[in-house]
Amino acid sequence: MKYSDYGKWTARATAWIERYFSTLPDQPVRAQTSVGDIAARLPQSPPDAPADMDVIMADFERIVPDGLTHWQHPRFFAYFPANAAPASMIAEQLTNAIAAQCMLWQTSPAATEVETVMVDWMRQALGLRDGFVGVIQDSASSATLSAVLTMRERALDFQGNTTGLSNTPRLRIYTSEQVHTSVDKAAWVAGIGQDNLVRIPTDENHAMRADALQDAIDADRAAGYTPAGLIMCTGGTSIGACDHLPPLIKIAKAEGLYTHLDAAWAGSAMICPELRHIWAGVDDCDSIVFNPHKWLGAQFDCSIQFLSDPAPQLKTMGIRPSFLETQGADEVTNYNEWTVPLGRRFRALKIWFLIRAYGLDGLRTRIRNHIKWAEMLADKLRNEPDFTITTDCRFSLFTFQYTPTGGDADTATAALLERINDDGRIYLTQTKHDGKFCIRFQAGQFDCTRDDVMLAYDVIVELARG
Ligand SMILES: *Cc1c(COP(=O)(O)O)cnc(C)c1O
Repeated sequence: MKYSDYGKWTARATAWIERYFSTLPDQPVRAQTSVGDIAARLPQSPPDAPADMDVIMADFERIVPDGLTHWQHPRFFAYFPANAAPASMIAEQLTNAIAAQCMLWQTSPAATEVETVMVDWMRQALGLRDGFVGVIQDSASSATLSAVLTMRERALDFQGNTTGLSNTPRLRIYTSEQVHTSVDKAAWVAGIGQDNLVRIPTDENHAMRADALQDAIDADRAAGYTPAGLIMCTGGTSIGACDHLPPLIKIAKAEGLYTHLDAAWAGSAMICPELRHIWAGVDDCDSIVFNPHKWLGAQFDCSIQFLSDPAPQLKTMGIRPSFLETQGADEVTNYNEWTVPLGRRFRALKIWFLIRAYGLDGLRTRIRNHIKWAEMLADKLRNEPDFTITTDCRFSLFTFQYTPTGGDADTATAALLERINDDGRIYLTQTKHDGKFCIRFQAGQFDCTRDDVMLAYDVIVELARG
C-alpha cells in the first residue's frame, strides 16, 4: 500500500465506520467474548509475505469487532465517558497523516502555536483567571505525575534530579481517599512512596477536612518530615467527590506546599458557568488537570494541565541537549520541556475542530442534559422500594444499591450488575463506597439521549425483578 492508495482505503474504512455507528445501538455495550477468544483467532507468528489491504480489512472485520466494548455506544454508562465527537475524529485523522513530532516549536510551529491558543481557549471556556498557561499531555496520569515530580523537586530545592533521593528528607504529599489511583502511581514513580502519601480524613460530603490537613502537616513537621504538596479533587472517580478548595489552599500556601487539582472528568462541566461554584478557589491552584478526552468530546488522548506558573515544572523537566537546541530562537515554547515524554502528538487540532464544530453552547447543552437526565434516573430509582441511592448525583454520576428485603445488599447488587452487563443493553460498573458494593451510573456519552437514560431505568428494574 502506498500513500497514493490512501483515498481508496480510507473510503473503505469510512464505509465500515459509518456501518459501525449505524448498528452500534443494537450491539451489546460490553464485549460478550471470553478471555482468549480474540487472541485465538490470530496467527501465532507474524507473516513474512505482504498482504493486500482488502485481506487485512476483511480479517479486521472478522476478528476484532466481536471483542470490542463500545465506548461510543449511547448507552455506555460505565466508568467515565471517553468521547470521540466526529469532528475530533476528523482532526485526529489529519494528525495521523501529518504525524509530526511536536516536541519543539521548530519541529512544527503550527502544533506549538495552535496548542498555546487552544489551551488558552479552554482556560477561558472553563472560566479560569487570566495568567494560567498550560500544556496538552496524553493523560491525566501524566499530568499528575508531572505535578508530583514538581512538588518533589521544589521541596528538594531542585536537587533531586541531580543527587537522587537516597539522602534526601522524607517528603510528604497530602490527599484524601477520594482521589484517583493515578495519584498513588505518581507517588510511587516519583520516589515519594505510598507510605508518604498521607490520606486526610474527609467530612460528611467526602471532602478533605482542612483541620485534619493542618494536624497532619503539624505532626509531620514535628516528626522531621518535609511537607511537599497537596492534591485535591473536583469529581473524584468513585462517587464524584469534590473538595472544598479555599481552606485547603490557604493552609497549603501558608505551609509552602505546591497544589494540584485533579478535575480530569468534572473539569469539562466547568464550561457551564452555573457549576463553577463547585470548584470555587480553583484560581489559586498551582496546577490543574482536566481531560477534554472524557466528557467534552475530544478523542483520546487529550489531557490539559494548567499551570499558574510553569517555571517550577520546566525546572523539573526541562532538559536541553545540544541536538534539541533551536538555532537563533531561545524564546520559543518547546513543550517537551513541560512533560516527561519527549515526543508529542499534535493533539491541539482536535480541540480546535471540536469547539468550532459544536460551539461551547452545543457542548454545554450536552453536559446540562446529561446532568438533568442522570438526576431524573436517580429520582426514579429512589422511588423504587427495593433500590437505595447510596450517593446523590455529583454532576452526572450517582451510585446505588439493590436492596431487596431479606437479602444481603452487596450480594444482590453484585449479582444484578452481572445480569445487567451480560444482558448488554446498557453497561454499568461498580465501586466500593463506605464499605458497600455500589453500582455507578454516569451519563456522558456524546450521542446519549434522554430515551437512552430512561431505557437504563427499564433495564435495571426489569433485571432486578425478572
Ligand atoms: C479518568 C481519571 C483519571 C485518569 O485519567 P487518565 O487520563 O486515563 O490518566 C484521573 N483522575 C480522575 C478524577 C479521572 O476521572
